Amino acid sequence: MRGVVFDGKRVRVVEDLAVREPGPGEVLVAIAAAGLCHSDLSVVDGTIPFPVPVVLGHEGAGVVEAVGAGVTHVGPGDHVALSTLANCGTCPECDRGRPTMCREAIGRPGKPFTRGAADPVYQFASNSAFAERTIVKAVQAVPIPKDIPLRAAALIGCGVLTGVGAVLNRARVDRGDSVVVIGTGGIGLNVLQGARLAGALRIIAVDADPAKESAARQFGATDFLTSAEGVRDLLPTGADHAFECVGRVELIRQAIDLLDRHGQAVLLGVPPAAAEASFLVSSLYLDKSVLGCRYGSSRPQRDIALYAELYRQGRLLLDELVTEVYPVEDFEKARADAEAGRVARAVLTF
Ligand SMILES: [Zn+2]
Ligand SMILES: [Zn+2]
Repeated sequence: MRGVVFDGKRVRVVEDLAVREPGPGEVLVAIAAAGLCHSDLSVVDGTIPFPVPVVLGHEGAGVVEAVGAGVTHVGPGDHVALSTLANCGTCPECDRGRPTMCREAIGRPGKPFTRGAADPVYQFASNSAFAERTIVKAVQAVPIPKDIPLRAAALIGCGVLTGVGAVLNRARVDRGDSVVVIGTGGIGLNVLQGARLAGALRIIAVDADPAKESAARQFGATDFLTSAEGVRDLLPTGADHAFECVGRVELIRQAIDLLDRHGQAVLLGVPPAAAEASFLVSSLYLDKSVLGCRYGSSRPQRDIALYAELYRQGRLLLDELVTEVYPVEDFEKARADAEAGRVARAVLTF
């Protein structure tokens, strides 16, 4: 079968990929569509160190082909959207509703793929959606209604869970709050629509590229600025929530400096692993906080089903996130378009 493999030097579409049968507690999924997220490219450029060779991709949706022993919540033919969270479901963190904090769900890449007679191939983010078929743990396969297009559902598993989840689960934005979103790429747009869903009153998008304004407004921005300098004109006492979605330390500083009393800066962008940010300690005295956030602090079985239903009701935008759809053979073009910032989300189809 076909898949997108990074061997440490090059990333290319191969035809000789195979995946093993699902074991106990696993689900074999035929991928219909998968979004190309910045994190896939971060593996290729080394920002995210990952063992190779590896099948890329980590936001996808498809049809269940087979299930292993003990899997009862989905069966062959069911449509599923996939999460990247292979949490155990039995530890104290899982049990208290914080699966993103499960220690079993971090840093244990499996090798369910092979290429010909060569060595096994790693799975990225417990997911590897850039393959015709992949294997996930039962907890990662979330059933969705069959009337939801799979190429829209594919985007829920990373960008939507991360962006909307950061607003609803981590920041817990309340009705009437003010929100600043720095950076309006794939994550930023989902933070904007999360803020709209939460009932935020003023939602200010900041992006250096003026061409991003119409999309930002479509996803919920009430105001658009090309520089954070203008935020104080709109919010003289500062913002209740500032989301940094770019991953640059000077923008993290900016997010903190924009906070109102009791405000919180939520860090979603990913700077290089050794990057250090600085801020005035005194600027946090008035009950302000800086929050990290993994994967939107999501509970995928609940949240993916919720977002799918909000999409059906027209309250969550998914189709509008997809700028362009490419057959998997055109991965190189999709990558070039994503790297050049020409697309909010490129989606690969199989
Ligand atoms: Zn992602
Ligand atoms: Zn756990």
